[in-house]
Amino acid sequence: MSQTSGFPAPFTREDYATRMRRALDDAAAAGLDGLVVTPGPDLVWLTGYRPTAITERLTALVLAADRDPTLLVPVLERPDAEAAEGAAAAALVDWADGADPYAAASALLRPGGRYAVSDSAWAMHLLGLQAAVPGARFHPTTERLPMLRAVKDANELARLTAAARAADAAYEEIVTVRFEGRKETEVAADLADLLRRFGHEQVDFTVVGSGPNGANPHHEAGDRVIEAGDCVVLDFGGLMFGYGSDTSRTVCVGEPSAEVRQVHDVVRAAQEAGVAAVRPGAACQEVDRAARRLIADAGYGERFIHRTGHGIGLTTHEPPYMIEGEERQMVPGMCFSVEPGVYLPGRLGVRIEDIVTVTEDGGRRLNTTDRELRAVG
Ligand code: ZN
Ligand code: ZN
Ligand code: ZN
Repeated sequence: MSQTSGFPAPFTREDYATRMRRALDDAAAAGLDGLVVTPGPDLVWLTGYRPTAITERLTALVLAADRDPTLLVPVLERPDAEAAEGAAAAALVDWADGADPYAAASALLRPGGRYAVSDSAWAMHLLGLQAAVPGARFHPTTERLPMLRAVKDANELARLTAAARAADAAYEEIVTVRFEGRKETEVAADLADLLRRFGHEQVDFTVVGSGPNGANPHHEAGDRVIEAGDCVVLDFGGLMFGYGSDTSRTVCVGEPSAEVRQVHDVVRAAQEAGVAAVRPGAACQEVDRAARRLIADAGYGERFIHRTGHGIGLTTHEPPYMIEGEERQMVPGMCFSVEPGVYLPGRLGVRIEDIVTVTEDGGRRLNTTDRELRAVG
């Protein structure tokens, strides 16, 4: 992940130790004895360790109130695990092929204990643990500790900001390429190239939804040839310095129709209202309500068919979710999307999305390209 400029600073052993302590505090507050973290984003966040392959061999970080953090690894992967910066903040315990990894893990867990376990833990691993630790109960991490990774530190925020800037630079370039007469997939390929050129190490999605395809929020890009007058939803992102970008703008090929203009105005105002509702202490659902109210008032309530936003960090979709019923409060350092949309089946879609961070003074956009309806060629 090292880049020429030395930016961003690598996460330190102390960063990881702090995160492990925070995770344990959160677990205690949630009435849990600890966490069992298998490979995936939580393990990366807690240790910096990203095994090259996620396999049938059990790897697990055990955080429990009554012991030091312990990383259980297959012996053949021990050198890789040791190389991870955060592994130094945990005791390493290995197990060899032929041994019972669940017996090794059970020595770290309390019979009858309650633990959060990674959402993505393999069923065979969880079932093995359940059989090995009598009476222990396991709960999905995002169910019990949804905000574990939600509040970003300065270094994480710097990475998310860099990713957003790169995505913005890609947008400023993509609006200069030819749309009319080309397939969606061709514009999508341009977009992917631009994201890489501006520093993304990974491109995860490049939605180009032209005309009626824009009405399907899950449409990626297909063989449809883009026509004059089309409204085109662009929604793209990936990873830079390990952290995600995700932004949407909707452009028009040539002169927009009155309908396109009207829908775009509504979505832009809704996105503005959603961002304006961001403030520490307010419930996440307030962001959704603010954006949705504007769209409903304009008569498109039934056409806004998804939540207003999602958290972003090591993954592109993670808590907190900006949705009715999410009463948890916004906290400075949280980063999430605000992305209302209106979808008119068979005709068009409009979505505008920025990543926003919560500050003491309210929401601050990490994406800063304008939200005008731009005409493309
Ligand atoms: Zn998006
Ligand atoms: Zn998004
Ligand atoms: Zn999305």
